[in-house]
Amino acid sequence: MSADCLFCRIVAREIPATLVHETERVLAFRDISPQAPVHVVVIPKDHHADLSALTAADPALAGELLAAVADVARAEGLTAGFRTVLNTGADAGQTVFHVHAHVLGGRGLGWPPG
Ligand code: AMP
Ligand code: ZN
Repeated sequence: MSADCLFCRIVAREIPATLVHETERVLAFRDISPQAPVHVVVIPKDHHADLSALTAADPALAGELLAAVADVARAEGLTAGFRTVLNTGADAGQTVFHVHAHVLGGRGLGWPPG
């Protein structure tokens, strides 16, 4: 737990979020600024800054994160497909430095993203 980390504070229930999925080690909630009809953020409860830090420290947890992505997509009914995005670092536009997977779907998303 990092006291000044937004997503750690959601894990601690200090900041409200619309939770959609929870396991012992992973939490998922709706993005506050959705970019698609379904836009869910999936995080490990433990604090790791980004994907590189997570896979170095706890690769099994990275696997649990991806399993939760698939569970969320299934629960949200994204049978036509979904996009999973893990922004890592400033150049990628990462703004919250607690690793998270975006799950986007519910409309045709196209590629590359606009
Ligand atoms: P990134 O730019 O990849 O770091 O993504 C951070 C995401 O967190 C953005 O899509 C934000 O809209 C989202 N976000 C920021 N604050 C909250 C919040 N309090 N609850 C839910 N999502 C949030
Ligand atoms: Zn954190």
